[in-house]
Amino acid sequence: MADCIFCKIIAGEIPGRKIYEDGEILAFHDVNPQAPVHFLVIPKKHIPSVMDGADPGLLGKLLFKAQELAVQEGCGEKGGRFVINCKEDGGQTVDHLHVHALGGRPLDWPPG
Ligand code: AMP
Repeated sequence: MADCIFCKIIAGEIPGRKIYEDGEILAFHDVNPQAPVHFLVIPKKHIPSVMDGADPGLLGKLLFKAQELAVQEGCGEKGGRFVINCKEDGGQTVDHLHVHALGGRPLDWPPG
């Protein structure tokens, strides 16, 4: 999608610190990290949010890859958090489905 910042990262039109890429998904470090480990896992297909028609296989792949990469980034022992913000009430700011993976410090709960 032309004006989507994550589609531009996928296309290589703007830089992203990539961690992983295959034909369907891309993972890259968040530009404004909220924890020592904070990266995003996104589908290459433009899907606005988790409530906008992602298929079960793709959703499973996004989450599976997020945990696999979190282990790779050093979160295997102490864990972390996987978050999908959705639309207005969820505080989603980029309208391209993404899984946040956060770790490397204790994380507060519940969210505000
Ligand atoms: P959300 O609020 O769940 O939509 O999260 C969007 C995330 O995208 C935020 O954590 C931003 O810091 C991150 N973000 C926005 N632009 C970029 C970018 N160009 N590269 C990497 N992360 C980005």
